[in-house]
Amino acid sequence: MIKPDAVENGHIGAILEKITGAGFNIVAMKYTQLSRRDAQEFYAIHKERPFFGELVEFMTRGPIVAAILEKDNAVDDFRALIGATNPAEAAEGTIRKLFATSIGENAVHGSDSDENAGIEGAFHFSGREVF
Ligand code: ATP
Ligand code: MG
Repeated sequence: MIKPDAVENGHIGAILEKITGAGFNIVAMKYTQLSRRDAQEFYAIHKERPFFGELVEFMTRGPIVAAILEKDNAVDDFRALIGATNPAEAAEGTIRKLFATSIGENAVHGSDSDENAGIEGAFHFSGREVF
């Protein structure tokens, strides 16, 4: 996902260029907005964390871009491309270093395993939206 902060700040095009330039193939994509229920479900793994309320507020405050990306070693390579959760700790040239503003408002989400990528892809897209 391209998160609401990056959409608000006009970074959709630049982020997609970084992603395709790094060799990812976009197999599904949409511009949409998460409801509270969507965000609570999507980030359910973090529901006991102190920042959960803030995370749900943030992720629902405006539109996002959701996409399914394909590449060999996609999970690890995408996490390398986006950089550390906290942009202050993200490597030079990473998407979060370039476009994120804080640990909470960090421009992009990436799946943390192939299994979760499958679950998260199915959360956003039906079979006929994946190419
Ligand atoms: P994501 O899952 O969004 O790709 P991540 O895997 O790098 O990010 P997680 O630990 O899964 O990081 O945290 C999920 C999201 O919760 C973060 O991307 C960020 O938006 C928010 N978050 C994480 N830690 C904090 C924190 N300490 N304070 C505020 N928000 C946080
Ligand atoms: Mg995560």
